[in-house]
Amino acid sequence: MPRAVVTGGSGFLGSHLCRGLLARGYDVIAVDSLLTGRIENIEELFADERFTFIHYDVTNYISVDGPVDAVLHFASPASPRDYLEFPIKTLKVGSLGTHNALGLAKAKGARFLLASTSEIYGDPLVHPQPESYWGNVNPVGPRGVYDEAKRFAEAISMAYHNVHGLDVKIVRIFNTMGPRMRAADGRVVSNFVDQAIKGEPLTVYGDGLQTRSFCFVDDEVRGIIGLLESSWNGPMNIGNPNEYTILELAEMVKEVTGSKSEVVFEPLPVDDPTRRRPDITLATRELGWRPEIDLRTGLTRMYEWFLKERSS
Ligand code: UDP
Repeated sequence: MPRAVVTGGSGFLGSHLCRGLLARGYDVIAVDSLLTGRIENIEELFADERFTFIHYDVTNYISVDGPVDAVLHFASPASPRDYLEFPIKTLKVGSLGTHNALGLAKAKGARFLLASTSEIYGDPLVHPQPESYWGNVNPVGPRGVYDEAKRFAEAISMAYHNVHGLDVKIVRIFNTMGPRMRAADGRVVSNFVDQAIKGEPLTVYGDGLQTRSFCFVDDEVRGIIGLLESSWNGPMNIGNPNEYTILELAEMVKEVTGSKSEVVFEPLPVDDPTRRRPDITLATRELGWRPEIDLRTGLTRMYEWFLKERSS
């Protein structure tokens, strides 16, 4: 059995990734500090003897017994609300944490997959964004703590590839949504679904004409595992290229939930990107990957999950 270490394994995306890897036949060791991850996300996996959880902060030296075939570094606050609350921890897990995860991969002769982000592109001047675009990031703005941490993480990962020959893959993840997002996560989809269920107004920041492209988590995980098992080295966008304005998203959430909530406008956060959409030519060519679940279906699944959570 191949053995994978997933840092951030009890987070929203990390916990789906652990399940995807277990289903694919990996033994999985999830490591998480539980800063923003949740034990509830992985509780049911404890019954599987192929799954191990280690409560640990990977900004410290990481030691794992036995052979490891893959290290997937997913530990980091990822919602703007979270990384604004924990700016130094975000910088540390993107820098020190990535260094430690790379060191583990090197010591074990494992392949390494870094969870990077569309935030690499900042407020993009090229649209849609191909991997070759260098981005438009404000290093000293509030989002810089996340964006620059991930940019550093990409740089050190490529340096380990170039200097040590480490097998390095970098997934640039665009807005991802689905079950197990925290209602209080602060991101737009979870906010809107939670607000719609509670009959509260949907909070649109700015004029709502900014765009995002939302990928359902099952599609995202399939792409990530495809990348992990491919021979590709370097960055690859994995995201859904269907682009929506935030106002369109609010309307769709109201339709899917049957909510009568009104839309209210609140100030746009500083440096909020105006548009975002992945160019997935590379993923389609190299992996044959493309998303299969549309936004309406994804929202419906998320809505059903939020309802179930509330009633349990
Ligand atoms: N947003 C919004 N209302 C909310 C939360 C977010 O209008 O309650 C907007 C936010 O300003 C941004 C977009 O939705 O333009 C996506 O925000 P999110 O925090 O989900 O992720 P981002 O793509 O900015 O990292």
